[in-house]
Amino acid sequence: MSLQLQQITVLGATGSIGVSTLDVVARHPDRYKVFALTADRRWQLLATQCLQHQPRYAVLNDAKAAANLTAELQRQGCETEVLQGASALEAVAAHEQVDTVMAAIVGGAGLLPTLAAVNAGKKVLLANKEALVMAGGLFTQAVQKSGAVLLPIDSEHNAIFQCLPNHRSDYLARGLMSSGVRKILLTASGGPFRNTPSCDLAKVTPEQACAHPNWSMGQKISVDSATMMNKGLELIEACWLFNARPHQIQVVIHPQSVIHSMVEYIDGSVLAQLGNPDMRTPIAHALAWPERMESGVASLDIIATARLDFSEPDLLRFPCLRLAQNAADVSGTTPALLNAANEVAVAAFLSRQIRFDQIAQLNEEVLSRLVAVEPTSLEEVQSADTEARAMASQLINSW
Ligand code: NDP
Repeated sequence: MSLQLQQITVLGATGSIGVSTLDVVARHPDRYKVFALTADRRWQLLATQCLQHQPRYAVLNDAKAAANLTAELQRQGCETEVLQGASALEAVAAHEQVDTVMAAIVGGAGLLPTLAAVNAGKKVLLANKEALVMAGGLFTQAVQKSGAVLLPIDSEHNAIFQCLPNHRSDYLARGLMSSGVRKILLTASGGPFRNTPSCDLAKVTPEQACAHPNWSMGQKISVDSATMMNKGLELIEACWLFNARPHQIQVVIHPQSVIHSMVEYIDGSVLAQLGNPDMRTPIAHALAWPERMESGVASLDIIATARLDFSEPDLLRFPCLRLAQNAADVSGTTPALLNAANEVAVAAFLSRQIRFDQIAQLNEEVLSRLVAVEPTSLEEVQSADTEARAMASQLINSW
């Protein structure tokens, strides 16, 4: 079968998802050509990636890093053009020659470039869950308006997408029940502190929090997994992606991370998607969708897996999950406020300014002090984000 070469922009190319994406793309030179690669400031890794993939553009957020990359690529005789700044990120996401955009910038910084890709009607592979958490309503309206194809990269959402009926437009228009879906079972490994007594959580270090038992990921999502905020953000993400109500999503602890999520139908059938915990599977699935292609992921050894355990999450030990569940219920700008407070809290924990257990405390405190609204514009979302970041920083300084 002859395939048309797809031009791809990878936003967040130097991160964990970006590196896995380039690994998959490099296995299929007959299908994909890298158009642009972007990062915040890690220009050395971006230089290596440019030399391997020869993109037309490389974008760095940081001006000094961009100057260093320009000099290095000139020295190496690489023709990639280096751009810099937020508007350049949006430009390479929306460029007319681009077919597919991997949205893998971490945090709220990914919102505008991801939306630029959506508004330009691209095939958007969404890893940057924070974009949907912050601005789910406006984001999904933009998808409908532009005709962009939005495919989930989070392993759980990719699993749910695979287990839901093929006729996506039905459940997106009329809700999950109309497609015979009773509920979604969103699995969670429980992170590195699944069995740690609450009283010991105050003492955990950034290194311990980032040492996830099953997945190798960036620092922010690793800490979010340890607090279970990641599962809360995923719950909000799933509501927007699948037109689900929060009560239709049950979070289930599954420490082996072999089942990536499940969908239960009204006839009692439960469909699950299984695989090794390797992000190249959902990346390859979304890249090739609706076809399938090799990802480089080893075959699942189901005999060696032997057992699959399930339990309920402990909301007392993981208050961030409770906060996110409540935010999903009330919606409006509450998820944006929570997301922003959490980004500040995680950064402060990673720089040892606050303790691990203070991440949830800070999030709760910020939510209790700020008033959420029903956003009708992106500016309102951004203003909620700014307000929550300022409040979180102020609280940290006063502690
Ligand atoms: P990483 O921290 O590993 O990488 C983040 C990427 O974003 C890097 O390329 C980084 O550049 C870039 N970046 C950071 N800040 C900015 C900014 N202000 N402007 C432009 N670029 C920026 O993150 P992950 O790959 O782990 O996660 C990326 C997203 O995917 C997150 O939203 C996460 O929740 C989601 N996700 C990740 C999974 C995983 O397995 N890692 C699984 C499922 C979802 P630089 O290298 O220069 O800092």
